Amino acid sequence: MIDNREEIDCPACGKIMQKIFMSKQGCCLDVCTEGCGGIFFDPNELQYFDEESDNIDELKKVIEGKIFNKVDESEIRVCPLCGNNMVKNYTSSKEQIQIDECYNCGSKFFDNGELEKMRKEYSNEKNHMQEFLSKSYDSIGSKIAELEIKENQERMKNRSKFLKLMDKIFIRNK
Ligand SMILES: [Zn+2]
Ligand SMILES: [Zn+2]
Repeated sequence: MIDNREEIDCPACGKIMQKIFMSKQGCCLDVCTEGCGGIFFDPNELQYFDEESDNIDELKKVIEGKIFNKVDESEIRVCPLCGNNMVKNYTSSKEQIQIDECYNCGSKFFDNGELEKMRKEYSNEKNHMQEFLSKSYDSIGSKIAELEIKENQERMKNRSKFLKLMDKIFIRNK
């Protein structure tokens, strides 16, 4: 994980972002504590924060319950690390949360509140997928069991046929 050490300006409102050290992940997040409340993720940082089980207490401490400046979320933002235009992307196929991504360096910017929303969405999706998988496993599992029983019955039938046949041959040859 590349953790940028420079002070950067918020891509949404231009205020200097504050470095918040996240002890569980061992890196700093850049947070716009004096302006819009946006969060900037260096390349490859987001994966340590996007699930509800990832601890973000230190981040919550500086943003929760605070009132931040409103920003125009539709505006094109410029990546504070490399200067390229950032691209608006949805975090999932549900198209509810739109974030800014820099395709050049891989950094990401979340407007205030978007990270929490995405963490919820991800964990819902994960639960959904697990439920789906266990349900399909259950039904596939019972189908397999059914097939095995049928196969066994067939085998037993064939075996008794075979034994009867052997008997006949044996008797005939007596
Ligand atoms: Zn800002
Ligand atoms: Zn960039």
